[in-house]
Amino acid sequence: MGRAAADALFPPQCPGCGAPTGSPSALCTPCWETAGFGAPACRRCAIPLDSELAGADAECAACLARPPAFSRAAAAMGYEGGRDMVLRFKHGERTDFVPAFAAWLQRAGASLLAEADLLAPVPLHRWRLLARRYNQAALLARALGRRCGIPVLPDALVRTRATASQGAMVSARARRRNVLAAFAVRPGARAAIEGRRIVLVDDVMTTGATLDSAARALLRGGAAEVRALVLARVVRPGEAPIFQAP
Ligand SMILES: [Zn+2]
Ligand SMILES: [Zn+2]
Repeated sequence: MGRAAADALFPPQCPGCGAPTGSPSALCTPCWETAGFGAPACRRCAIPLDSELAGADAECAACLARPPAFSRAAAAMGYEGGRDMVLRFKHGERTDFVPAFAAWLQRAGASLLAEADLLAPVPLHRWRLLARRYNQAALLARALGRRCGIPVLPDALVRTRATASQGAMVSARARRRNVLAAFAVRPGARAAIEGRRIVLVDDVMTTGATLDSAARALLRGGAAEVRALVLARVVRPGEAPIFQAP
């Protein structure tokens, strides 16, 4: 079936609200504005910054004081604006959003991806993978890799222990403890990551602690540099990013 015929039968819908749109990976204007695309953000952790102060290379105070293990990060959207889309994707109802999400990741992460050798998704622990049936981060990484022509190493990292869901962790300290040394490079992946510039892909970034821990594991395993690219960045009022002490 040709693209035009398919569009006539199934007109492209906005993934945010279901309104008809001109293209299958486009949000309608109100959803685009709510999702916070293109807002200025810290180049290291992707937390939104005051637009008057932020240049392209601006970093937030938390990153300047205690930089994370990943050298840069970008998010396709803010979690508040994209919450419904992201949750429906996370819970497995809307895996058909993946091509649109991959397009947004490519655009948001253009400068991060330009020098990347490899994409690596943040892994789920095995029991949670079974409960959910698929790893959203791996779906995103695969689709993004196909779009950009960058190789994907889906099992570069393994979880060394089950961590409680980050969403259930109340305090910053609990979150940090929860992901401490939670990852290791899979022994067979060492040769593939050594000396490589790697972009970690995940669906949601909250405090950055999970990505920080995953980046540390990759650097310990010999990666030259690690960057982070996520679909949605959660920003809680007054909450600064949390990174492990070096
Ligand atoms: Zn919409
Ligand atoms: Zn920052």
